[in-house]
Amino acid sequence: MSLKRIKTKPQKIFFDGKMHIIWQDDYHSAYDYWELRTSCPCAECVDELTGEKILDDSKVDKNIHPVKSQYIGNYALRIYWSDQHSVGMFSLKDLRERFPHEEISSEK
Ligand SMILES: [Zn+2]
Repeated sequence: MSLKRIKTKPQKIFFDGKMHIIWQDDYHSAYDYWELRTSCPCAECVDELTGEKILDDSKVDKNIHPVKSQYIGNYALRIYWSDQHSVGMFSLKDLRERFPHEEISSEK
């Protein structure tokens, strides 16, 4: 497997108040639910033609959380949110590179 593939392939995903992804190269990223929900790239949240955001962040519940997640092939993650929104597909590459996250350093 190339390094590029390794970097965009999760080893493990778990939820504990944040969404955590541990990638194949052991990089550990954590995503704030609200930030992730308001970054949803779907056509209901972002205008497909202009790339302009349609979603009004202030209408998103601060206690938003994922209900479940599902892999779409091996390139994206679909997240089902507590506000019933479930059409957003988060590309794994974007989760690794573009979406806001904090890096968790592993303490060993
Ligand atoms: Zn959306």
